[in-house]
Amino acid sequence: MKEAYLYIVEKSVAWEFDSPEYGRLARKVVELLYDRKEDLTDDRVAILLNISTAETRRILQYLMKLGLVGVKKRTTEDYRIEYTWYVDDDVIRQAIKNRAKVAKEKISSLIKSLTEGAYYVCPTCHMRYTLDQAVNYGGVCPVCGTQLEYVENVEEIDKLTKAYESIDKI
Ligand SMILES: [Zn+2]
Repeated sequence: MKEAYLYIVEKSVAWEFDSPEYGRLARKVVELLYDRKEDLTDDRVAILLNISTAETRRILQYLMKLGLVGVKKRTTEDYRIEYTWYVDDDVIRQAIKNRAKVAKEKISSLIKSLTEGAYYVCPTCHMRYTLDQAVNYGGVCPVCGTQLEYVENVEEIDKLTKAYESIDKI
């Protein structure tokens, strides 16, 4: 489960910043936060990993946007607002859940478009028609006059439905 989380972190950041190096850096950041089991400021993370604070901040802020890290806000003794970052099992669980939700939404819209894209075919001349066209032609092939047959993307829909269900098992 943690491996899936690390994968999501690394890929998302590498993609966003168009840099595999940033992706690996992000992985180190969340690993550090998880292992230390405490909230850390971005300065502290930068020092511990020996990377720049600016880079650390950029990565953490992006991860926050995606809900991949936890953040706490507090006021310091000299009245500055300070953000501290953390990664715990709850953050990881939620991140994976969100990711699964996005994947499911993508698949279900794909299933929907396949269902709507169902088509009609002429068994004689093999011309294909959409539902709208088939209705317009009164259900017969305008080329040869044969009764049109309905074809569904059953196989694809079936595959996608299985993929959709497998996400629930993560
Ligand atoms: Zn025909």
